[in-house]
Amino acid sequence: MSIKGWCPGAWRPMMSGDGLIVRIRPRLARLTRDQILGLCTLSQSHGNGIIDLTSRANLQMRGIKEHDHQTVLTQLQSLDLIDATPEAEAKRNIVTIPLWQDGDLTTRLHTAILDTLPKMPTLPAKMGIAIDTGPQPILTNTSADFRFERSADTLVLRADGAPNGKAITEAEAPQTLLDLAKWFVSTNGPASGRMAKHLKSTPLPADWQDTSPAAAAPPLQPGGTTYGAPFGSIDATALAALINDSQATTLRVTPWRLFILENATPCAPHGFITDANDPLLHTHACPGAPACAAATVDTRQLARQMATPGLHVSGCDKGCAHPRRATTTLVGRDGTFDLVENGHPWDAPRATGLTAKDLLTPAS
Ligand code: SF4
Repeated sequence: MSIKGWCPGAWRPMMSGDGLIVRIRPRLARLTRDQILGLCTLSQSHGNGIIDLTSRANLQMRGIKEHDHQTVLTQLQSLDLIDATPEAEAKRNIVTIPLWQDGDLTTRLHTAILDTLPKMPTLPAKMGIAIDTGPQPILTNTSADFRFERSADTLVLRADGAPNGKAITEAEAPQTLLDLAKWFVSTNGPASGRMAKHLKSTPLPADWQDTSPAAAAPPLQPGGTTYGAPFGSIDATALAALINDSQATTLRVTPWRLFILENATPCAPHGFITDANDPLLHTHACPGAPACAAATVDTRQLARQMATPGLHVSGCDKGCAHPRRATTTLVGRDGTFDLVENGHPWDAPRATGLTAKDLLTPAS
């Protein structure tokens, strides 16, 4: 897929308030013990010691100094964690279910799609592919534009935004993906940027929506050797300790701020979420100040103190941590917070100029 514009990765990192953000796209969302321990070491030695889980099941290190970028790239290459070129990295925007098995449909499709990517037409940078081919879809709320799913008895390729998809065989999957991408381009889809947005103004032909996928299943929850990371941020030292203590052989990344350790002894580590009812699991907060230059407020301390499902504390109105509607959104502006109820960070606030003390003081 040739990409218009720019999308952050390891080769093309993004500058933030505390240095470069280097994003890694682990193949099939899985890392060996050596890879994850190597990443922890890199984060400690060249970054700010934090590893983020992203909403597309990628990993990112923050706080990398510009002059250290080449060293980090060399280390990532030796860990086999990056693509051969920036172009190859930008094209590989694929999210898979985390619990695939060697040789199953998900892994076979992944291989076939990797081979197809060079033939894809030019698409907007944020467009991606979901291989959601367990018994029921679980990536329905994970960002993607081309969705491989299963119906009761067949494989389906579904355009994001359409309720139904096209029934296909496994052998037809690569060509059908190409055909749908070409339809998107030929109908001026790139002007919309994403498939779902495009379908709001351009009807999808009927033969692309003849089959219902199976009903979506809920995502995974923490428990056993599946751990949650508050706000999707992991302390690299704590993660390395957990890998060593649990004797895990591999780590799988999920899009839900959770990671799964394989062949591991369950532990109760400090700093990770182990309870599905922990409100931190569903409280959103971007890094805020001082990590991001756009922020004038500390976000995560307040989010921890106020943790409740449906709360989003955002350093500014860009809303990186949750660019969607939330029950309560606190938006940093000039050192205080604006309050948005049942809206997006960029929506009109109901109250402005609130301090953390205002927000933490119970109303009398
Ligand atoms: S929402 Fe604003 S402050 Fe937070 S990370 Fe994004 S740009 Fe930075």
